Amino acid sequence: MRRLPPDHYISGIRAGDRLVLSRAITLVESQLESDQELALAVLEQVLPQTGRSVRIGITGVPGVGKSTFIEAFGKHLTKSGKKVAVLAIDPTSQRSHGSILGDKTRMETLSTDPLAYIRPSPSGGSLGGVANKTRETMLLCEAAGFEVVLIETVGVGQSETLVYGMVDFFLLLMLAGAGDELQGMKRGIMELADAIAITKADGENATAAERARLEYQNALHLFPPAPTNWAPPVLTCSALQQRGISELWQIISEHQQLGLQSGFRDRNRQQQNLDWLHSTIRQRLESRFYNPPDRREKLVQIEDAVRKGEMLPLQGAQHLLASF
Ligand code: GDP
Repeated sequence: MRRLPPDHYISGIRAGDRLVLSRAITLVESQLESDQELALAVLEQVLPQTGRSVRIGITGVPGVGKSTFIEAFGKHLTKSGKKVAVLAIDPTSQRSHGSILGDKTRMETLSTDPLAYIRPSPSGGSLGGVANKTRETMLLCEAAGFEVVLIETVGVGQSETLVYGMVDFFLLLMLAGAGDELQGMKRGIMELADAIAITKADGENATAAERARLEYQNALHLFPPAPTNWAPPVLTCSALQQRGISELWQIISEHQQLGLQSGFRDRNRQQQNLDWLHSTIRQRLESRFYNPPDRREKLVQIEDAVRKGEMLPLQGAQHLLASF
């Protein structure tokens, strides 16, 4: 990609030019150091225009109906004139066998909506690294005037916690009757949720969805109250029948209002920024440690000795770190 001066990106983003926005995101996602430097220069300049969106994380197991829901929810927002950006963190795209969230046919209507911008998950690198790129991308989208940013992730692995750490509102989508185990839901994820929506509450599934709603609502009562006193509601929705969609936006707006009044939203974002700072330091230190070829060679030898039981892992680590 031909690189242009920072001003080109800055003015294009501020003007809401999505082609320029896409190019800037490509810089953010690039592994080239010169691209990353340019991306940082752009980000620094647009920082005053960031932070004004409602940041929403959406998670749920594959098949729960995330993309159908996001399409319906996104359309609901764009109909009222809101600019919506959809980003994704896909832990499966880190591996070679492709991604769960990556396929291009998803969200067909929303992707052609002039008020919506959809960017698939960046691939490659560590999950933490990908999460940081998504954070930067979110800031660029905010600077380009997007008022709602939806960050989608699959309910597998660590990605939910990462997404939780970059949004104001965390929505958990669940299926009725699939069983917690089947949905891979650890209690921990339910504890993070600001709301739970039981999807596909239509047709024959409607009764089961309502039953699941009551069950989860009862289960949530057992958790200690959040420091904000926000009691996460459980609702049913149908993306196909457009039910529960506007209710959910109302809940999120109410949560946002309360968070702004109490100062919780800003404190939460401050803490998220500090976490971002520390995770970046950890990642940079790690890559600086592992990158030099002579250290990698040494590491292979030490791994061999540890495997054979000739050296304690602690000794090996000390040996390697002594040269750092
Ligand atoms: P994702 O893997 O979580 O993104 O799930 P998808 O959005 O791709 O949906 C998985 C399947 O559930 C698809 O066949 C959808 O048509 C279906 N689905 C999604 N939402 C609804 C809904 O509200 N009602 C019904 N009946 N089916 C739905």
